[in-house]
Amino acid sequence: MIDIEKIRNDFPILEEKVYNKELVYLDNGATTQKPRQVVDKIVAGYYNTNANIHRGVHFLSQKATEAHEAARETVREFINASESKEIIFTRGTTEAINLVASSYGEHYLNAGDEVILTEMEHHANIVPWQMLREKKGIVIKVVPMNDKQELDLESYKNMFTPKTKFVSFAHVSNVLGTINPAKEMIEIAHKNGVKVLVDGAQAVPHLKVDVKDLDADFYVFSAHKIYGPTGIGVLYGKEDILDLMPPYQGGGEMISTVSFEKTVYNELPYKFEAGTPDYIGSTAFAEALNYVSAIGLENMEEHEIELLRYATAKLKEIDGVVIYGNATHKSAVLSFNVEGIHHYDMGMLLDKQGIAVRTGHHCAQPLMDVLGIEGTVRATFAIYNTKDEVDKFIEGVKKVVSMFK
Ligand code: PLP
Repeated sequence: MIDIEKIRNDFPILEEKVYNKELVYLDNGATTQKPRQVVDKIVAGYYNTNANIHRGVHFLSQKATEAHEAARETVREFINASESKEIIFTRGTTEAINLVASSYGEHYLNAGDEVILTEMEHHANIVPWQMLREKKGIVIKVVPMNDKQELDLESYKNMFTPKTKFVSFAHVSNVLGTINPAKEMIEIAHKNGVKVLVDGAQAVPHLKVDVKDLDADFYVFSAHKIYGPTGIGVLYGKEDILDLMPPYQGGGEMISTVSFEKTVYNELPYKFEAGTPDYIGSTAFAEALNYVSAIGLENMEEHEIELLRYATAKLKEIDGVVIYGNATHKSAVLSFNVEGIHHYDMGMLLDKQGIAVRTGHHCAQPLMDVLGIEGTVRATFAIYNTKDEVDKFIEGVKKVVSMFK
């Protein structure tokens, strides 16, 4: 059994009052709060070991370099990649997808080549491919969902043609919570000789991800959604594929030698990390992963799913509630509307009660179109949330409903 009260003590922000009310933070899908250990690591990095990395011979620079490379190794271990050079630090999920769409996409995809996405993608996994479509004339195909908001795997299988060259999909939907059968989808793509990127932004914080077992060609996620700092994330890519890809950005760090006539690029992972990296962020990120590992992702998932089940059952008792995302395999995301109440009004009125939820299209407007709605109210759970908070949330929703009656 995990001790939630002890865990809550690690998150000072949970003590904050909102409009003089206790904060109930249920916007974890957007970003999680940070434990003291992670914030302390950032402070210690700047206070004790700050120096630019890789290029310095002096003591501090070497210490900072060691810490940054140790962080890369922590990430490698966390997702079970083969080599730490397969871990590219980016600014986050969005930049990682842009990197692949730009570097791999511009190099390997041509006019008429098909890229398969799904109806439940975040804009971060749609727009970079549309930008590529504008540049190269690729064709985007979209996997539909069934009425439980699960991907229709038969349609997916039938979508492959000799022109299909890439698949990119979310492991877990940020709106529906649907956990997609990533391993099976990758296997199907590989049978068709097609490379796959998995957007793990909402998966890595909740599920044990093993990139080798999945056999993903690319896997991307952000630190800030797994108790880490903002502004840093990961592109995992298989070494042989990354090796053949051209750099994404040019500058310092990513080169081996430069003259005005010719530049020789650096080896992996540095080839894709132009400029001074967020070496303080990387160590804080590793601290967050160590924090999660110490609690155990399985324990966290169990707790979050229990909250999801409890909240879903309670929410369903309220008249007029419609829940979006009814997949059999679902993560701790609860999207809903109440008939006659705009999602924005619900969010605002919950906020006044100290309850932080997200409202709107959640950066998934195409999904909203498919669902025939403008937006939803979304509660997302993390390890520090409690049943008591769920009760407050449900009472809050009931209060708003009664105000509209
Ligand atoms: N993909 C999914 C599924 C997400 O939920 C998010 C963020 O909400 C992103 C991508 C983008 O992540 P970031 O803003 O950290 O780059």
